[in-house]
Amino acid sequence: MTSSTRPFLNRRLAEFGTTIFAEMSALALRTGSINLGQGFPDTDGPEEVREAAVRALRDGRGNQYPPGPGIPELRTAIAAHQERRYELSYDPDTEVLVTAGATEAIAASLLALLEPGDEVIAFEPYYDSYAACIAMAGGKRVPVTLRPHEGSFRLDLDELRAAVTDRTRLLLINTPHNPTGTVLTREELTAIAELAVERDLLVVTDEVYEHLVFDDAEHLPLATFPGMRERTVTIGSAGKSFSFTGWKVGWVTATPALTTAVRSAKQFLTYVASGPFQYAVAEALALPDSYFSAFRADMLAKRDLLATGLAEAGFEVFKPAGTYFITTDIRPLGETDGFAFCRALPERAGVVAIPNAVFYDHREAGAPFVRFAFCKQTGVLEEAVKRLKALA
Ligand code: PMP
Ligand code: GLN
Repeated sequence: MTSSTRPFLNRRLAEFGTTIFAEMSALALRTGSINLGQGFPDTDGPEEVREAAVRALRDGRGNQYPPGPGIPELRTAIAAHQERRYELSYDPDTEVLVTAGATEAIAASLLALLEPGDEVIAFEPYYDSYAACIAMAGGKRVPVTLRPHEGSFRLDLDELRAAVTDRTRLLLINTPHNPTGTVLTREELTAIAELAVERDLLVVTDEVYEHLVFDDAEHLPLATFPGMRERTVTIGSAGKSFSFTGWKVGWVTATPALTTAVRSAKQFLTYVASGPFQYAVAEALALPDSYFSAFRADMLAKRDLLATGLAEAGFEVFKPAGTYFITTDIRPLGETDGFAFCRALPERAGVVAIPNAVFYDHREAGAPFVRFAFCKQTGVLEEAVKRLKALA
């Protein structure tokens, strides 16, 4: 028995509860619903990459602790990928760090770079772990709200500039953006870069959906902008780029000093992870461009299928320029509360989705928005659309 009347969970974390993704995936399982909530593909990535993991495991590569910064093969492959795609050159030995998914990269970056009380600006709606990690690091989050404008969620650059104070240490950027699907434009990124340089801010940029951009959108890494390479920690993930979300292989590229700082925190979180998978991801990163374009084309077709279906079912659809996700507005269906809507959706339609309000500090700003994932098999999306049409 404990005599303590103090809650076990500390004040830094008390507001966060269980992640919405776990809650909604459990709801899908319990109700036998189609899970368009948590963003994970329902088919595995390339067979040869899966086989590479099997080979590594059988050959005894990575079954014991890999080196702290990640295996050299993977660090070299990450550096080569940044060079090939973006002409960004990083030294595999001093400027690349392998992490347990992008999740650990985000956590380690914030834990390493923030002093208690430092302000962090992040776009709202923000990916859920940002708020929790800022809190664990003792930082203060300052949300800048992306607002619907002509069919997509946009950043107000004046609002961003106004959010910077003398206490701002870091901009936490995410492009392509989860959950809205917004891809920041060259103009927006230029303005962000100028602001970071002018106010001498660090930037952590979560670019896990770098390969999932559609139509005319282009993914431009913030580190390629003038003055940014030296102040930017860039984060990527094999989960998203190769459809192996369970492998938890992510990475950081940054200057030697920033990489060392992030590694200082990372070594006390997992130390290392995903040994055999690191070998497989090294091979995946070297796949020819044809893999990446086929992957993108496949996801684009799925996006269009779901976007059309959701519109026909009566939702207002914000067609995403990137990511796995479509954000919708439920008000045309006569609904206003995304939480209530998502809780009732399994019963009403046998589908699970995510209420975007959980990604907001200003909950009311996110209330009518609901996110659906389209990284699912075509037949699954078709069945989901059929069920959702019955809502009208
Ligand atoms: N950042 C964003 C924007 C994400 O959507 C996700 C997960 N889907 C992550 C980070 C975490 O990535 P990982 O699974 O590699 O930890
Ligand atoms: N990033 C995924 C999403 O947005 C979920 C990852 C997780 O469950 N932590 O759906």
